[in-house]
Amino acid sequence: MTGVRPADLIRPEIRELSAYHVPDARGLIKLDAMENPYRWPPEMVAAWSAKLRYVPLNRYPDPEAAELKARLRAALAIPPEVELLLGNGSDELIQLVILALSAPGRVVLAPEPSFVMYRLISRFVGMRYVGVPLGAADFSLDLAAMLEAMERYRPAVVFLAYPNNPTGNRFNEQDVRQVIAAAPGLVVVDEAYFAFAEHSFLTSVAEFDNLLVMRTLSKIGLAGLRLGFLTGAQAWINELDKLRLPYNINILTQMSAEFALVHAEIIAVQARQICEDRRLLLKALQNLPGITAYPSEANFVLFRTPAGKGTHLFEALRSAGILIKNLSQGDLLHDCLRVTVGTPEENQIFLSALAAVLD
Ligand code: PMP
Repeated sequence: MTGVRPADLIRPEIRELSAYHVPDARGLIKLDAMENPYRWPPEMVAAWSAKLRYVPLNRYPDPEAAELKARLRAALAIPPEVELLLGNGSDELIQLVILALSAPGRVVLAPEPSFVMYRLISRFVGMRYVGVPLGAADFSLDLAAMLEAMERYRPAVVFLAYPNNPTGNRFNEQDVRQVIAAAPGLVVVDEAYFAFAEHSFLTSVAEFDNLLVMRTLSKIGLAGLRLGFLTGAQAWINELDKLRLPYNINILTQMSAEFALVHAEIIAVQARQICEDRRLLLKALQNLPGITAYPSEANFVLFRTPAGKGTHLFEALRSAGILIKNLSQGDLLHDCLRVTVGTPEENQIFLSALAAVLD
């Protein structure tokens, strides 16, 4: 026994963290994590499993995932001067960007509230994180505050979730352009929810030399695959690629994502259905007494419950068999809960249960 203790060796900023907690959803209707509620049609599952049989699991995957990248390029019409980096989920890409930029005193900046991983990864990588509050009324980007904070902190990277999680709104396009133009460093526009939104910056990547656009397949039905990608100028992507561990995209993910891209029309149909159900869910929430529901361009809806009731309602819903996300602790999000758009049946069960527990 050496007697060496974690406290002697583990960096203080890591000891202060708590591990990212994923709640147990067994037996519950799962509306907490922005998953797509639909699986593929049976004939598509059959065609996919037929292909799976031939995947050589005894071999390492293609380290460059060249075939998958080529399909992604074609599917998204990515121009040749724009490069692609694949990640094990976009979480890994956020980590790669922050790792590559990390140095004492350097800052990561993002609006608040936004995706928690920007802050968490900054902390454990040893970067300083600065959050700039969104507008309290409608969670819009506070452009003046963003410009001022960028001037003051000179962030190495700004993360903008577009649409934003957990608020669901998409920031004003011109405001985002101004942030990119004024940023002293990189700007990552995180388009995890692109499939449910009406605008994207993917076609603007070649326009700005400091812009990276990130996407994921997680919200469009493939959360289990863990595949995200980052697009940007070759010069940036080549540097980030040096940090990527070899074989980060496993062989089953490469094969399955290639297959999914061939059947992209199924994904588009499901996304349209989710957008239509989001409209109905929002309307129904807005009609519930005491509830304020916020417009969304993502596959979830944020809503505010009567004062002091957020956690109580979240727990009452969980007891009724429905798991959503409790955000009610935050300043700007006091009494706020977030529900993922499920199937029409799931949404109805959720709405009825919420109406009952509100009573
Ligand atoms: N970005 C945003 C804005 C998200 O909300 C999420 C998931 N909640 C991610 C990135 C991470 O997605 P993944 O790692 O599954 O690709």
